[in-house]
Amino acid sequence: MTPFRYERADDAAAAVRLAADPAARYLGGGTNLVDLMREVVERPDTLVDVTALARGIAATDAGGLLIGAAVTNTQLAEHRAVRERYPVLARAILAGASAQIRNMATLAGNILQRTRCTYFYDTAGSRCNKREPGAGCDAIEGFNRIHAILGASGSPSPACVATHPSDMAVALVALDATVHLEGPAGARAMPLADLHRLPGGTPEHETNLLPGELIVAIELPAMPFAAHSTYRKVRDRASYAFALVSVAAALDVEGGTIRDVRLALGGVAHKPWRAWRAEAVLRGAPATEATFRAAAEAELADAVPLRDNGFKIPLATRTIVAVLGELSGTAVHAELTGEAA
Ligand code: SF4
Repeated sequence: MTPFRYERADDAAAAVRLAADPAARYLGGGTNLVDLMREVVERPDTLVDVTALARGIAATDAGGLLIGAAVTNTQLAEHRAVRERYPVLARAILAGASAQIRNMATLAGNILQRTRCTYFYDTAGSRCNKREPGAGCDAIEGFNRIHAILGASGSPSPACVATHPSDMAVALVALDATVHLEGPAGARAMPLADLHRLPGGTPEHETNLLPGELIVAIELPAMPFAAHSTYRKVRDRASYAFALVSVAAALDVEGGTIRDVRLALGGVAHKPWRAWRAEAVLRGAPATEATFRAAAEAELADAVPLRDNGFKIPLATRTIVAVLGELSGTAVHAELTGEAA
């Protein structure tokens, strides 16, 4: 590990000041950043510890929740308002990592964690455009079972086919969360759906944060039908594994018709993937298996599989259909509910 300086901030303004150097990094629970430093993928010269900031969860005047960036995953998953009003979020958090890691990991750290592409971590022998721009990408012709099927493009091949690993971020994107930021130029906010980027030709730029910006809170809007929501994660083993495919969904059905819906996918793209196309198919349509399948197929129409991950397309289709069937109380064909890859 490369030597670094450690600073502890007492408030957001001090944190932003201490992190003015481009080689500084904000430190939350450290559950990903410290691993990256040990592997010499990240070499910050300063760590600014922000775990003393923003540890609360409060109701907003608009009827939503404002969640401090340093709230731990465990605190958030156990919070009564989250469990009752946004169960998709509590379930996504509990589907991620181990209890020990959830006790340490913070909200902001979780959504800013970096891909688990094995070539990204292999500094000794693998080419990686994300780690070293212009170097190439060994995943494209390599073992790419866990990689992206949506949102990666480029000629003659994409620059990067990594996936975003966070479960929590998928649920937050489905819930129309807003990110509140503090930075050298002041405070601002943006939809969480706009925080992460697709790789394009610059996979080293993973977010739309400006230099030195700090996430201080995430806001959830009032969304009464989100009380009827869930998260399903399909993975290679029952715990402590990243998603092959995951689905976050909230569904509002009345009289057999879908009044409203929120849908997002994990494990399929460089960012948490809001399923806008599927939502458009679903709104106003009958809550039937045929509708759910049409929505899934619309969302996955542009999917481009790699050598080892073509299974993700039918798997994502089946998982979307099964989750919407569960939330709507609609019986779906038995083969659609299977989780095996
Ligand atoms: Fe690097 Fe992305 Fe290629 Fe993985 S998929 S090796 S992170 S460029």
